[in-house]
Amino acid sequence: MDTFQTPSDPPPANALTPQALHACFLGPYGENDTLLEKLVVEFLRDHVYWRRNFHPEDPPAIPTGAAQHPAYLELEARMRRELHALSAALKRSVPFHSPRYIGHMASDLLLPGLAAQLLTLPYNPNNVCEDAAPVTVDLEVKVGLQLARMLGYPADPDKRGCAFGHLTSGGTVANYQALRLALALKAFPVALRASGVAVEMAGACDAFDDDWQAFNLSVDDGIALVEQWQQWLATLSPEDATRWRVRVQSERIETLGLTGFFSRHPTLRVPCVYAPVTAHYSWSKGLKLLGLGRAQLSLLPERDMRLDADALEEALQRCVRARQPVLMAVGVLGTTEHGMIDPVDRIVDARDRFQAQGLGFSVHVDAAWGGYLATMFRNPDGSLRTRAQVGEGLENFPGEAVHAAFAALGRTDSVTVDPHKLGYLPYGAGAFVCRDHRAMTLLSEEADYVFNGPAADDYMTRFRQLGQYIPEGSKAGASAAAVYVMHKVLPLDHAQFGQLPRQTVLAAEAFRRRAEQAAHELSDVAHLCVPFAPDSNLVCVAINLAGNRDVEHANRFVRTLHDDLRCDPARPLQVKEFFGSMTTLRAASLGERRLRRILGALDLDPTSMGAATDHLVILRHTLMNPYLIDANNGISYIDRYFDYLSGRIRAFARAA
Ligand SMILES: *Cc1c(COP(=O)(O)O)cnc(C)c1O
Repeated sequence: MDTFQTPSDPPPANALTPQALHACFLGPYGENDTLLEKLVVEFLRDHVYWRRNFHPEDPPAIPTGAAQHPAYLELEARMRRELHALSAALKRSVPFHSPRYIGHMASDLLLPGLAAQLLTLPYNPNNVCEDAAPVTVDLEVKVGLQLARMLGYPADPDKRGCAFGHLTSGGTVANYQALRLALALKAFPVALRASGVAVEMAGACDAFDDDWQAFNLSVDDGIALVEQWQQWLATLSPEDATRWRVRVQSERIETLGLTGFFSRHPTLRVPCVYAPVTAHYSWSKGLKLLGLGRAQLSLLPERDMRLDADALEEALQRCVRARQPVLMAVGVLGTTEHGMIDPVDRIVDARDRFQAQGLGFSVHVDAAWGGYLATMFRNPDGSLRTRAQVGEGLENFPGEAVHAAFAALGRTDSVTVDPHKLGYLPYGAGAFVCRDHRAMTLLSEEADYVFNGPAADDYMTRFRQLGQYIPEGSKAGASAAAVYVMHKVLPLDHAQFGQLPRQTVLAAEAFRRRAEQAAHELSDVAHLCVPFAPDSNLVCVAINLAGNRDVEHANRFVRTLHDDLRCDPARPLQVKEFFGSMTTLRAASLGERRLRRILGALDLDPTSMGAATDHLVILRHTLMNPYLIDANNGISYIDRYFDYLSGRIRAFARAA
C-alpha cells in the first residue's frame, strides 16, 4: 500500500513567488512563530490521539492524580531546572538564522522540514528497516528517488537500472559509502573469476581473462556481471546455487579483507583514489576507514581553483603504464573552502576514454555543498535547462564550465548531497545516491534471498531492508520525513526549490560588486580584492593594509580581522556584528601565475611567500541566508557588512 504521493506527482502550477517564500522559514526575527507553534501543537495533539486510539479501552497507566504528588512535582521541577539551564546555555549558540551570519555552510531551517521532523520525533521511527519504521523507510527510499531525479539519474523504480539513494548522518558518511560501493564493485569480478564460476557462467568469461582485466571493468560492465551472476544462480538447483554462492563469497574482498585479497592476487596493486587538492577531509577519513590507507588518496592540483582535468588525464596515463588500478575519481561540486565547481563533464569523459583502454574506475561527485544548486538546472518535467535559461536575471552564473558540470551529473556513478547544508534542514541529513541500484546488492550484509526470496526483484521491497545496505544501523526516521516533506512542498526544480539557491547566487553577485566598491573606497588605506571569480555562492575577499609588502604580516592582519568575525563563546553574542569565516589560497589551487597576480594586486612581495608561509589567508563568506537583501525594510546586510568591515580596516590602519 502506498499512502503517499509518488515523485511523479504533477508539480505546483506556479513558480515559487517571493510572497510564498515568506512562509518557508521560521525567519531571522522568528516572524513565523505562530505558524510553527500552530503546527507543533496541532501535530503533538494528533500524536497523543494516536496513542490513545491504539487501544482506547486500556486505562491511563499514569494515574490522573499523579501530577499532584510531591514527588512528581519535585521531578518536574528538576526537569524544568535542567531545561532552563540548557535553554540558557543554548543562547550562546551560533545565530545561523541571521543574515549577519555569513560564515560557514549553515542558515535558517526550512519550516516544512522542521515541522515534519518535530511531528515525527515522538513516533520515533528507526529507519534501519521497515519493521521499525513502516512509514519513514519508504519516505527515505523515495527521497533517494527525488534526489536522483534532481541529478539526472534514472528515477523510475520500475525500470531495471533505476538509481538508489539513502540518507546518512552527513556528507562524510555518504562519501564513505561511495568508496565502499566502488570497492565492492571493483573487486567482485576478481572474486567471481577466482571461484571458477566465470568459466561456468556462459558468456561471462568473455569479459576478462586475467585479474587485471577483472579488476578494471567499467562500472556498467561490473553491474551487468553482478546481474548475470544472479540470473545464472536462479537457473541452478537450490543446492548448487548455495554451493556457488558460498564459493564466491569466500573469494570476495569483504570476506578476505584487503590483506587476504591482495595476497591471493599478487599481480594486483591496491587501487588509488583521485581527488582535487582542496577535497574535504572526509576523503582522507574514508580511505583510512576502508583500510586502503591515506597514502592511496592522490590529490590532484587545481587550475583556476577547479580540478585540473589535464592533470587527471596525465595521472591516469601513468596508471595505465604502471598497471596501477584506480578505484575512483572524485569531482567536487561546490568545494568546501571556495565553493568552486569541478569539471564533472571532463572527469566522466576521461573515465569513458580510459575505460576503453582497459582502466575502469568509478566517478563520484562530492556535492555535499552544491548538490541542491542542481535544482536551478532542472525543469519541472525533469529536463535540463539551457545555460541561458538558468542564467536569466543573473550576472555570471552559470559559467559555461559550470553548466557543463551540472549537465554531466547524470553520467556519474554516484553523488553525495547534504540536505543539512544547502537543503536548509536540521543536522544530520546527508545523502548518498548511486546511478544504478543494482550494484547495491554487493553491500548487503546477507544475500537478498535470505530476506526477500524471489520478491527481492521488487525495488521498494528490497530497499525497505535499509539496514542491509547502509553503513549505519539504527537511524532517525524523523530525518527522512523532514527531507521528504520538504522536497514535496518545494519540488526540486528551478520553479520551486530552485528559487532558494537562485537567491544565494544573486546575493553572491551583489556581494562581489559591493566588494569591488569597497576596494575603491578603501584604496587610501588598504588593498582589497575578490581573488577569484566565484562559481556559485561562496565569495572570498583578500585584504592587505597599504604599505605592507610581507605576506606573513598580511596573513596575521586578516586573522585579526577574522577574530572579530568568529564564534567566541566567552563573549555575549550581541557584541558580535557579523559572522564570517576564513580560508587560505595556495599555489596548488590557483596556479603559480595567478597567485602572483593576486599578490601583485594586494601589493605583496611574492618573495615573502616562502617555506614558512606558503599560503595567503583570506576571508570566506557563505551567502546562503535568504534574507541578506531585505527588500521589505530596504536593508542590505551585504552593505552593512562592508560598512562594518571597512570601519574595522580603517581603525587598524589608523592604529598601525
Ligand atoms: C560539508 C562537506 C562534506 C562533509 O559533510 P558532513 O555533512 O559535514 O559530514 C564533504 N564534502 C564537501 C564538499 C562538503 O562541503
